[in-house]
Amino acid sequence: MSTPTRPQPNPGVLDIAAYVPGKSSAPGVARVFKLSSNETPLGPSPKAIAAYKALADHLQDYPDGAHSDLREAIGRAFGLDPARIVCGAGSDELLGLLGNAYLAPGTEAIHTTHGFLMYPIITLGSGATPVEAAEKNFTADVDAILAKVTPRTRIVFIANPNNPTGTYVPFDEIKRLHRGLPANVLLVLDAAYSEYVRKNDYEAGIELVATSENVVMCRTFSKIHGLAALRIGWMYAPEHVIDVINRIRGPFNVSAAAIAAGVAAIGDAQHVETSIAHNERWLPWLTQEISKLGIIVTPSVGNFLLMHFPKDKSAKDADAFLTARGLILRMVSAYGFTNALRMTVGTEEANRLVVQALTEFMGKPQ
Ligand SMILES: *Cc1c(COP(=O)(O)O)cnc(C)c1O
Repeated sequence: MSTPTRPQPNPGVLDIAAYVPGKSSAPGVARVFKLSSNETPLGPSPKAIAAYKALADHLQDYPDGAHSDLREAIGRAFGLDPARIVCGAGSDELLGLLGNAYLAPGTEAIHTTHGFLMYPIITLGSGATPVEAAEKNFTADVDAILAKVTPRTRIVFIANPNNPTGTYVPFDEIKRLHRGLPANVLLVLDAAYSEYVRKNDYEAGIELVATSENVVMCRTFSKIHGLAALRIGWMYAPEHVIDVINRIRGPFNVSAAAIAAGVAAIGDAQHVETSIAHNERWLPWLTQEISKLGIIVTPSVGNFLLMHFPKDKSAKDADAFLTARGLILRMVSAYGFTNALRMTVGTEEANRLVVQALTEFMGKPQ
């Protein structure tokens, strides 16, 4: 074999289609409502903003590499042992570290057809093989996942609720999935939107992590806490997994500003309640109003919804129509939805404007 003429990345890397974030601007439009990245329309807690600003006087100091204050604040909020928590630069970092630690060439990680795109990206980045399990009604299907398990399987990734579908798997089913997995397969429960879920049969995964050796739960400050810009995620995991992640993570992977703002945010339960109440009011309203227009909305338990356009209307045209009015939604063709848009629940004003614009769009002959 001849020597390559330039450095070559590891196998798998060039098979990755880089993640494309949601659009954030509408050229030529004065007022823009960004409803493309599932950010909260209410912003972060004012206490988090104050804590962030206060950090400005100490920028020369390294952060606490163990981010103890943040782990303790999370522990207090959820009744968890801080020793079984590790934080990262967004939950994306933690998901990536899990890939680095547990995947390698020759192994496999399972994700579902319309699962979060970072899972196959992380899998390929680790040189492993992504394996897709079919869904039922745009929802992860336990039997389909279990049918894909082989001796090479190392991780099963599930976003619960899932992005971009907004669907969820009831806790009984998650437990059945766990029971069906070999003990050496890590079940990764990505609960980025769990605070928004109002269902009695849902559980983010805390109980399962606490009582087993092969389940982890990833959470984020990017969604309900409104701190996406700061990049803060956390993971609750068995001690042996925490130990592994602490060996490979950067020693200062969470910035001091992120730690300070995160502590303040998770301590502001009132702000979280207000954000949940806002979503509880507007998610059903949007679902109902958009459905009335002949657009099929997948029932969502998150802070976003997936709308499927009828054959004679194109999501691409709808996207252009909305963008021209400053309403930025998310194209989801990378997720295999070629005629759908994902919309984040916005402010009352934004929500009403979207319904108005969609009403106009759907009434237009094409
Ligand atoms: C937004 C999101 C995350 C959070 O990512 P961060 O890196 O914490 O900002 C994780 N998983 C899913 C499914 C998401 O939609």
